[in-house]
Order: sequence, then structure tokens, then C-alpha cells
Amino acid sequence: MAGCLAERYRGELAQGLPEVDLFIGTREYDRIGDLLAEASGGALPAREAFSDTLMDYSRRLPRLLAEPGPSAYLKVAEGCSRPCTFCVIPRFRGRFRSRAAHHIIEEAEALAAAGVKEVNLLAQEITSYGTEIGEGHSLAKLLERLEDLRWIRILYNYPRGVTDELLDAIRDLPWVVEYIDMPLQHIATPVLTAMRRGIDEAGTRALIEKMRRAIPGCALRTTMLVGFPGETEEDFKALLDFVRETRFTRLGAFAYSSEEGSFAARLPDPVPKEAARERLRRLLSLQEEIQAGMNAALVGGRCEVLVEGVTAEGLLRGRTRHQAPEVDGEVFLHETEAGPGEIIDCEILDTDRVDLIARGI
Ligand code: SF4
Repeated sequence: MAGCLAERYRGELAQGLPEVDLFIGTREYDRIGDLLAEASGGALPAREAFSDTLMDYSRRLPRLLAEPGPSAYLKVAEGCSRPCTFCVIPRFRGRFRSRAAHHIIEEAEALAAAGVKEVNLLAQEITSYGTEIGEGHSLAKLLERLEDLRWIRILYNYPRGVTDELLDAIRDLPWVVEYIDMPLQHIATPVLTAMRRGIDEAGTRALIEKMRRAIPGCALRTTMLVGFPGETEEDFKALLDFVRETRFTRLGAFAYSSEEGSFAARLPDPVPKEAARERLRRLLSLQEEIQAGMNAALVGGRCEVLVEGVTAEGLLRGRTRHQAPEVDGEVFLHETEAGPGEIIDCEILDTDRVDLIARGI
């Protein structure tokens, strides 16, 4: 049994599930071979200490794609050192650790050689990449060295970590798509302070303005958290107004639920569950309207589409530079001939609010 649950509740799980041969936390994946060899030898040592190693696919463990296709994820760091009070990820995934740039580049080159066109760089929060390695290392510098891929997408940006250097890289490097996924969680300063996000309303607004000035036409995706302890109706209305004015390209949202062991779990003034769910519904329905309007405005325009496959009805399907895999909808192509992995120019014919209908030109 491997992963976050095993990492967090190893002791309890071991007692309740004696039939499990081996518990592997979040920091031992690269030792699975050795651990299994030990395990098959008889007695199973309880894994008390974690190795702090990072996955290194390029040197010892060649990367296998579970789902071959023109798009892949590539993790650039493990853990997180940010202090968000609602989150327990840093506690069981450890402090932020960047993978060495040359390992990431080797892995990206191998993916490109295997036919991958789009790589989605991943970390719990990616803007810290390189900062703990030392001067001269940063996400922007890493992006400069990933030119073998056609599209590079970066997920997820922590607001305070977005630098001018990063914005310049997104704008100037043709292989980096103009797409910023930056979870904001909220806009009301009292809520942001209680969440310890390190930014307030004025800072958030200034950052968005700067991003839009630096990268005109950039897609901006965010995630919001409603019903955080102490969130008043006034705070929530400020959030609705902010979303209405800002018009994010995409927005995901969650109702707060208390995480065992988090700092926020001890905060006073909980928002009743039903009120939080109601706020979530109001926020999502506002975004649905915004999204439908934004997609309708795309009709008649042009875009690049990465062809990914064929639907059950025989239509080609793919995504634009502004659509991340799995969360942003798809493009369905009519009267078009192309193969998976091709990036083609298209005209947008229609939209069903979330997805786009287009034709190759
Ligand atoms: S919410 Fe994201 S940035 Fe904040 S502590 Fe959790 S993983 Fe880190």
C-alpha cells in the first residue's frame, strides 16, 4: 500500500490491516524494488524513517507512460513549504524539494523522443522550483531549457511566488503556453490572512493586473475555497464581485472541509456546512455564466489544437493551448483529417458552454 494515506496513517493502518505486506509512504517510491525484495525475504520491517530522495526516472528508472499519448505530466518537485492553514500536505509530503534540472530535462527529452508534444510540469506549488537549490536556479530558467517540447504548461502557481522573470518566460518562450493556473482561494483580506496565504486583496488585484499586462491574452485559471472558518456573507459577496469583475478563463471551487491536524481545524466561527454548499453553488453558477460568455466570444476565431484521439462517435478530439488536460474541456473537430499528436490550426465553429467545436483549416 503506497501513497498519502499510507504515509499519514501508517500506524493505524498496520494495526487494522494485518494482511498488507508493506506500507510505502510518499518518499520511498524509488526504493520499491529493494523494499519488495526485503519483504519477500520474510519478516517485514515497519518503515519508520523516510528516505528523502526524489524520483529520478532518467538515471535508474526509465519513465513509463501509463497512458501513452501526445500529452504527459512531469513532476519537478516534491513536498511544499508554504504555511496555508487549511492544508496538511506539507506535513505528510515533506518540505519542498526540487528535482535537479538536468534530470527533468533528460526526462522531458525522452518524452519528446517518444512522441509527447505537451508536457504539464507539476508540483504542489511550482513557483518555488529551484529556490532551495540556490542562486541561478528558478522555474523561469528551467523553462528556458525545455525547448524540445511543443507545449509546456506549468501547474500550479502560488501567487506570492509569481515573479517578473517567470511572466517574461511565459510570454517570450514559444514552447510555454500562455496559461496560468494560480489557486487564489479567496479575495477578502480577513479570509486570506486566516488562511495565511501571504497576500491580501490589494496584492492579489495588483498581481492579476500585472499578469494581464505582461501576457496579453493569457488564460487565467484559479481555484477558490468557500466557507472557510470566519468567512462572513460580506466576505463571500466580495468574492462574487471579484470573480464577476476579473472574468477568469476557468475557475474551480470547493466548499471548505476541516482537515484533521490542520491549523484551520482549530479556528473558531465555522461556517455551517449547508451555508458553505450554498455559497459554492452560487459561485459556480456565476462562473458557468462567465465561462459560457467567454466561450461564445471565441466562435469565429482561430486556435491551435493538439489532436489527442477520436471520440466514440468518430470525431477527432483535442485541446487548445488554453485548455489543460482533464479540467478545461475539449475541442471536437468536424471535417478534419489529422492524427494523434498533430498540432493543427483550426477555426472555432461553436461551443456547448464548456467544450469547443472546430474545424481544421
Ligand atoms: S495549499 Fe498548496 S501551497 Fe498551500 S500548503 Fe497546501 S500544497 Fe502548499
